[in-house]
Amino acid sequence: MIDSNANILLIYTGGTIGMIENNVTGALEAFNFSQITDHLPELRRFKFQVEPIVFDPPIDSSDLTPIHWQKLVNIIETNYEQYDGFVILHGTDTMSYTASALSFMIENLDKPVVLTGAQLPIGKLRTDAKENLITALEIAADKDNLGYSIVSEVCIFFQNDLIRGNRSTKVNADNFNAFRSFNYPNLAKSGIKIRYDRSKLLTPNHEKKVRFHYKMDEHIVVLKLFPGIPQNIVETILDIESLKAVVLETFGSGNAMRSDWFLEALAKAVKRGVIIVNVTQCAMGSVEMQRYETGQQLLKAGIISGFDMTTEAAVTKLMHLIGFGYSREEIIVRMRVPLVGEMTRYDEREEG
Ligand code: ASP
Repeated sequence: MIDSNANILLIYTGGTIGMIENNVTGALEAFNFSQITDHLPELRRFKFQVEPIVFDPPIDSSDLTPIHWQKLVNIIETNYEQYDGFVILHGTDTMSYTASALSFMIENLDKPVVLTGAQLPIGKLRTDAKENLITALEIAADKDNLGYSIVSEVCIFFQNDLIRGNRSTKVNADNFNAFRSFNYPNLAKSGIKIRYDRSKLLTPNHEKKVRFHYKMDEHIVVLKLFPGIPQNIVETILDIESLKAVVLETFGSGNAMRSDWFLEALAKAVKRGVIIVNVTQCAMGSVEMQRYETGQQLLKAGIISGFDMTTEAAVTKLMHLIGFGYSREEIIVRMRVPLVGEMTRYDEREEG
């Protein structure tokens, strides 16, 4: 039930939703927030309160960095008590990274943080912006019979689907249906009504105090394997002195080539303290290093499983855990369990 007394904070960061065409170059450029309110008079028709906060200047999401995530966390922390929910307008390109990062940076969240955006600017006739924004705001204001928010996690609403932020991936550069959660069911579907799958939503513990974490360590690389990847390139990357963690994108259920040079380079990096997490290049399914010899070799080299985590979730989880200052052992323990629903479950067989 939408709470007519709800106060929702609408945070505009930028993205296509608020862009206009440059008359000279034809490129889309960020514009100011009035562009959105002018084209969305519906914003004034909600029964609940919507207050905007605007990033000035607005930012194309390809330019976002952890500094902007920290700014978002700070806005949410500062306004946490006064608002019932938060909607973040964000470019689609890196929305899954931001959603994943925020899910780790805000612990014991018990209010909705819904990210949305658009594939077409709000000024265009066929824009998807209105649908996305209006429904995201309604989700943020939706309460259960006890007066608690129905959603109490970081999620993305895009073209009818509400999905968990740290399970999301941008899959389409053209279509309105831009995001998918391949390894976890959708949290809600909007049609005539918004239908939530309550069994899939995270259950908040209202006794626990929300905590905000700011430190993110970016000394991470994503290394995507391909047949024939050159030895000197892999070795050079793994030898980088400041490198703290690697998200290794492997084949199928977590497999990689068995070449001696490769396994030695991995083992050497692990030995000097680099954390290497195995995620699959497949969109669906989980890493299972026990399954093939090509995976077992990685286990022996000290690689840890990312199970069915997305690359976006693995990168931001590592940034958060390293930034927090946990020891290598503590990070490995936490990488093996879901902190905020980002992986399906810890599989004992991967222990090796
Ligand atoms: N380049 C834009 C951005 O991510 C694309 C979008 O908003 O869809 O900011």
